[in-house]
Amino acid sequence: RVKAKWATSRPKFPSTSLALQYFDMNYGTDLGDLWPSVRIGMLSEQKYGALINNFSNTGDVMTTLQVQGAHDFVYNGALAWEEKQKTTQDHLQSDEHPFRSSTTSETQGAALPPSLSTNIKCFVFPKGDISRFKSARPDGTGMLGYYLLDAASILPVLALDVQEGHNVLDLCAAPGGKTLALLQTQAIRHLAVNDSSASRTARLRRVLQSYVPREHLTEDRVRITSFDGRRWGELERDTYDRVLVDVPCTTDRHSLQEEDNNVFSRVRAKERQRLPLLQIQLLLAGLEATRPGGEVVYSTCTLSPLQNECVVEQALELARKERGVSAQVQDLQALAHVFRDTFHFLPTPRLGELVLPHLTANFGPIYLCKLRRTS
Ligand code: SAM
Repeated sequence: RVKAKWATSRPKFPSTSLALQYFDMNYGTDLGDLWPSVRIGMLSEQKYGALINNFSNTGDVMTTLQVQGAHDFVYNGALAWEEKQKTTQDHLQSDEHPFRSSTTSETQGAALPPSLSTNIKCFVFPKGDISRFKSARPDGTGMLGYYLLDAASILPVLALDVQEGHNVLDLCAAPGGKTLALLQTQAIRHLAVNDSSASRTARLRRVLQSYVPREHLTEDRVRITSFDGRRWGELERDTYDRVLVDVPCTTDRHSLQEEDNNVFSRVRAKERQRLPLLQIQLLLAGLEATRPGGEVVYSTCTLSPLQNECVVEQALELARKERGVSAQVQDLQALAHVFRDTFHFLPTPRLGELVLPHLTANFGPIYLCKLRRTS
């Protein structure tokens, strides 16, 4: 009886089914043979990562996670990179670096030190292990030990390669997973955190308060705003060393699994169709806000080329033609290489990198593309 009642109140066309139809039509073509495996990954339970909170008692937390069988994939990736450098025996001249990337069209000459110093630690269970993390508990000072998120969403932050003293903008920041990862570096001089949604910004504030002591959240260190990010270029041009543009998108995994707040619902059709335009405008604003020589990472959690590489290409063209801003795409192959034991990457991406969901490593989708502003 309960089931019958539930059946009558079920929507005739659930948004999750509409999303699946749409993905089958489009990603079947985009991903070809890879689609069936990605599809089953996205329809199955997602895997999480535990971003360690350096402002808590990390020793205890990490020991507990290690005992449970989890490991820090960032640290392991950096070790793998060092190993690779040693075996090729030319690391002093190398222009490649997992967290610092070279342009796709030209190589940069600088020798870069291996970066074990990112300070970002994210624990995951090994490939094929579907154990779940327990909820984090507050330590003696009240700070939570870790933040659960899609481990692949750490990659855009690593790609941003924040350095000591940087001035950083997180343009679409709520609910704050990547903001929290940025703060873990403890290298940022000033972090501007923005999200146009007031309610989501309030949630972000609560997240930060549960993880970061008050003295690290003073106005001179972290400024939280709730502006329309599309207008940032008018507010602060040529300002930031690093800008993260983590845009709203069709959130593919969520759209397949949750009826609530689903962007494939009929009432949100217009909003969904307008997403690529909004994404271009946000990336344009991010590029304008970056200082010449500074870097931008554009990221989404969709497989859609229209919201990924097409947005990057169009924003680059518009930036040059209409805003007098030039930027070059940076090669992230080294980053994908060091983390290939943790994530499944699209084998031959056209621009940027794409983490594909897979039953043995069910993270993503996460798309990331890094740009360096040249003028
Ligand atoms: N970076 C976040 C994180 O790691 O937790 C996730 C960001 S979510 C993918 C995209 C965000 O963009 C949403 O919180 C949404 O409110 C925000 N957004 C949408 N339109 C925006 C705009 N015009 N300006 C700034 N933020 C916007």
